[in-house]
Amino acid sequence: MKNPPRLNFAHLPTPIEHLSRLSEHLSAQLYVKRDDQTGLAFGGNKTRKLEFLVAEAQTQGAKTLISAGAAQSNHCRQTAAAAARYGFDCILVLTGDEPDQPSANLLLDKLFGARIVWVTDRNDRDRILQQAYEQSLASGGVPYLVPYGGSSPTGALGYTFALEELMAQDSSFDWIIFATSSGGTHAGLTLGKRLFGFDGQILGISIDEDENWLKSHVSTLASDASALLGEREKFSLTDVQATDAYCKAGYGVLTDLEREAVQLFAKYEGLLLDPVYTGRAAGGMFDLIRKGFFKPTDKVLFWHTGGTPSLFADKYSFEIV
Ligand SMILES: *Cc1c(COP(=O)(O)O)cnc(C)c1O
Repeated sequence: MKNPPRLNFAHLPTPIEHLSRLSEHLSAQLYVKRDDQTGLAFGGNKTRKLEFLVAEAQTQGAKTLISAGAAQSNHCRQTAAAAARYGFDCILVLTGDEPDQPSANLLLDKLFGARIVWVTDRNDRDRILQQAYEQSLASGGVPYLVPYGGSSPTGALGYTFALEELMAQDSSFDWIIFATSSGGTHAGLTLGKRLFGFDGQILGISIDEDENWLKSHVSTLASDASALLGEREKFSLTDVQATDAYCKAGYGVLTDLEREAVQLFAKYEGLLLDPVYTGRAAGGMFDLIRKGFFKPTDKVLFWHTGGTPSLFADKYSFEIV
């Protein structure tokens, strides 16, 4: 297997913890993999991807990292932090209207010194992103475009090796459940399962994307990531498990599903989820447990993908009941 360039700034391996009180409450066998503790600026799943992406940017001699996302993007926050740490300039193209007071992830983006370009209309995002890239080039810069959510084949490698890490810790899980959106985490885990022989099943709970789009996108990403390792693994739709049953409300729209999940994790385990990603994924997992989707003997690993700073975002505040 080839060894693509990688930086080592994540705090690895992240711990696995048994969720004993939640397990008892729900009559299930629940564990959590703490990728909210990857160490970079409050952690999260983008850290593992950025180990490969920032290394690629360095290899290309880049001086500026450019990326895009929602106003409260966890990916943009971690990209800005990695840029600061490795001496890159950072430009972030964020969708929405600039708030009077930055909070949560946006506050952190600014603290890390990122320059922010606002796009009101989401349909203009690609054009503005391209513009930022070309302006940087024209002014003599060497920009590197970090893809949405860090989900290129290069970024996905972070989760291929995360699966290897899991196997060294405990290979006995029957299910891995996690929040999926731009597909890099999903693709990396899917490739890792094949390469490192994980026997359990991997189910992504979609945050905002259609199930069929995810299956097709994730399988392509996994095949392309395999090529970066000099392997020839090929993936098709049937190699990817995903459900879009829990995202009908739309991206970042909180419902009882997310609110209940965030509060259950907090009250039973003293553990924080975020309202947008992990709250929705955990809510979906709880619904599957209640419907009897898992066997009572199944060991279920909830892979925590981070995002906890957005608990403090004004736009996601909610009433605790
Ligand atoms: C980005 C993100 C995800 C989704 O990961 P993808 O690799 O983009 O599918 C899940 N959870 C959190 C907290 C995230 O920030």
